[in-house]
Amino acid sequence: MMPHVAKGKKASILLIYTGGTIGMKEDPVLQALTPFDFSQILDEVPELGKFAYKIDSYTFDPIIDSSDVEPSLWISLVSLIEDKYDKYDGFVILHGTDTMAYSASTLSFMIEGLTKPVIFTGSQLPIGTPRTDGKENLISAVEIAAAKDEEGHALVPEVCICFDNVLIRGNRSRKFNSDNFRAFRSENHPPLAEAGISIRYNTSLIRKPESWDVRPLFHTNLDTRVSILKIHPGITPNVVRNILLGEDTRAVIIETYGAGNAPSKDWFISIVKEASDRGKILLNVTQCIAGCVNMDLYATGKSLKSAGVMNGYDSTTESALGKLFYLLGVFDTNDKVKAGLEMNLRGEISK
Ligand code: ASP
Repeated sequence: MMPHVAKGKKASILLIYTGGTIGMKEDPVLQALTPFDFSQILDEVPELGKFAYKIDSYTFDPIIDSSDVEPSLWISLVSLIEDKYDKYDGFVILHGTDTMAYSASTLSFMIEGLTKPVIFTGSQLPIGTPRTDGKENLISAVEIAAAKDEEGHALVPEVCICFDNVLIRGNRSRKFNSDNFRAFRSENHPPLAEAGISIRYNTSLIRKPESWDVRPLFHTNLDTRVSILKIHPGITPNVVRNILLGEDTRAVIIETYGAGNAPSKDWFISIVKEASDRGKILLNVTQCIAGCVNMDLYATGKSLKSAGVMNGYDSTTESALGKLFYLLGVFDTNDKVKAGLEMNLRGEISK
């Protein structure tokens, strides 16, 4: 589909700056990249002034390297978007790339019934450097956040990541490359848009709200009692026991091999069973970059299933974590959380 621009009244965008490489510069004392002031970012991108949009900005204090992101930042971001929701047509969040996939995934669950774009972007090179990718990323993100269809509805009412000319659904994204401009990938779902000479939207893949007139629900209660167990050759009973039976854990994402397989040894299956019997929610997500869990394919997967492990389908780990934080925060009972895990809530699984 060809791009549209906002019709009628000037589109208004809120640019939210949380930190990340895009706004960093070399600190001569520390000899490392540290965040700098947001007004300096805008000075570096005068092109934004050429859009017929009203662009306001909001800077978090402190601005951070995204390796320091905590769920409290997600709660602040969602509260800010809720507070400003009626005033703006779209939101662009400048964020470090290291944990952007976690933030975009979790925000997609925290906002239910979104009718406006929430677009994350950042860069691999600071915006002040000559070959920066930050300018292009920011300009495309702003244009996408402002884009509307003929009826005046947002073209992309989803939480997304816009990076290196590709727009991907936030809860399908993964940081894939630490030093290439194509930092993010969405292996299990095609891009929602691609920017060339014009921005081409894959409209049929973009999710639409049930109603454009109903304000979204903003969920700010997250329960973070979730752990991740990555299976590997040589993993010991002690490690598996400590993670699966941790006192302060309500759910564990088990990152398995291939189509959802794990060791078939008795000690392993019996710890999994014990965790399940003790009421831990166990979710099977593959370590592979692409593809889906199918616990009916191999005997090793089947024994996980009969030990009470749930299917994570083609979810990324980042998305599974955000979905669990959200579901555990909303529901007290395991049955309701499990029912939510089985559902495709925000386009995060192919089901
Ligand atoms: N460490 C940085 C961050 O995630 C990396 C980046 O922004 O690309 O904040």
